[in-house]
Amino acid sequence: MSSPFPSCPPPRPVEGECRPPEPDGLACSLTVPGAPYSAQIARGAVRAVLHTYRLDPLAPAAVQVTGELIAATWHLEPGRSLYLSVRYREDALRLSVYDGHAPHSHPRLAAHCEARRRAGLRVMAAVVRDCGGAWGFGESREPGGGTRTWATLPHAGAAGYLRCQGSDLP
Ligand SMILES: [Zn+2]
Repeated sequence: MSSPFPSCPPPRPVEGECRPPEPDGLACSLTVPGAPYSAQIARGAVRAVLHTYRLDPLAPAAVQVTGELIAATWHLEPGRSLYLSVRYREDALRLSVYDGHAPHSHPRLAAHCEARRRAGLRVMAAVVRDCGGAWGFGESREPGGGTRTWATLPHAGAAGYLRCQGSDLP
């Protein structure tokens, strides 16, 4: 007769057997408060995640984009949580921030709100462009609704981000 109790998992692997995970498996998410200091939390988290997956060369661009994404979205619904998703697929890092601010149904209000969001994302847009990536925002399909703002950074472009910044220096 089998035991009604679930068995323990196998013993933890010893330190030396712990290999770094494959970048393509990177799928991490984090919920932060809708507050100005959350940009710093998110930046630190993304840096740590990239380091674990040995994607450190992407960190300067990815950390800056993350900070800008949070900074541009938290004040649209202050106090409401922001959800950050970090994924790596097909040689590109995908960063998404879900905020609770739903698109407006009134066209003029919607246009005004979009323009405000775009203006807040100017610095992020410049970094993404320098990396040869793409970005955008739209209605979130998550159960909580709101808006999803996303940026995709190709590995080669993001890894060259600081090098290209450095070439501007005398
Ligand atoms: Zn609005």
